[in-house]
Amino acid sequence: MKITLQEAAAKLKSAEKILLTAHINPDGDAIGSTLAMMQILRAMGKFAQVYIDDKLPRNFSVLPFEEEIKRPVDGEKFDADLLVILDTAPDRIGKVIEMTDAPILNIDHHITNKSDVDFLHVESDAAATCEIIFKLCRELDVEITKNIAVCLYMGIATDTGFFNYSNTKPATLRAVAELVELGVEPNVISEQVERRTFLDVKIVSAALQTTKLFYGGKVVGMFISEEISRKVETTEGLIDLIRVIDSVDVAFLLTCKSENFCRVSMRSKAVDVSQIAKRLGGGGHVRAAGCSIYKNFEEAKNILVSAIGEFMVETGYLLSADFEEDRETALADFEISD
Ligand code: AMP
Ligand code: MN
Ligand code: MN
Repeated sequence: MKITLQEAAAKLKSAEKILLTAHINPDGDAIGSTLAMMQILRAMGKFAQVYIDDKLPRNFSVLPFEEEIKRPVDGEKFDADLLVILDTAPDRIGKVIEMTDAPILNIDHHITNKSDVDFLHVESDAAATCEIIFKLCRELDVEITKNIAVCLYMGIATDTGFFNYSNTKPATLRAVAELVELGVEPNVISEQVERRTFLDVKIVSAALQTTKLFYGGKVVGMFISEEISRKVETTEGLIDLIRVIDSVDVAFLLTCKSENFCRVSMRSKAVDVSQIAKRLGGGGHVRAAGCSIYKNFEEAKNILVSAIGEFMVETGYLLSADFEEDRETALADFEISD
């Protein structure tokens, strides 16, 4: 059932033992929002614990209380009276869903989240789940400490590409201004997010070598093999290198995680990629979305390129004649010669 922010606040007030979680493959908003919420609930005198069913990227280890995030083991249970799911629908929280039968309160900003949970609060115009949690602090009358502010800032900054994307609204910047007044140091956060290992930087050039244009240059793809994906710490930011190409509307990054498991990230300038992701079992936002394809690398590539082309034809971004044509655009004209 859909509920308002005030009703969500009331659910939190009446709970005592709260299990908090966010999506697998966690990002700054997933980790930031759960850690902020944990601190808010503890300040209200509640028992609150974060479980995320995945490895945590190193870049977010600067967040206060990050070391308290637990990963569930098989069959582990948690005695909760409320399960709070942030920044995702319940289908991307892994084993955490099996830890408790408590009612679910789901707070999210993904337009594709139509989940049938006990209590659902989605604000698709919020830049990040952290922006919703910022407003929730007022509803709950909880003081935003510097530690809470750092977590909220991390989520908002990373989900807006450091205030570059179209989801950056005046309200987003007002929230962020307040968080900086509360002690957040933007330079410290961006340095931590930008940190890369030597290998991850070297791999940028290998990744760029794999890029291919499709449909006359309207679509660009980058391909990370299983071998490379095992070596790198993060593929975050790689898609930003190719989404800027002037002819391109849709950019995708296809990463092979294991034999029949590939992960997809998509970005666009106009096409609603959340719809393409949804068709492939994922979701997201109009200009940033993703999904998983349980096929080998080559099959996943074909499925994805077809799904993007079909959707672009349906929505008028691509002529069907261009779709029928040889999909991969010859790169001969673009070769760098010496
Ligand atoms: P990413 O490309 O991983 O930064 O994700 C872009 C957006 O798509 C984020 O808002 C994600 O939450 C969403 N997203 C990514 N992968 C999935 C998935 N498998 N299912 C649903 N949403 C996803
Ligand atoms: Mn997220
Ligand atoms: Mn988010």
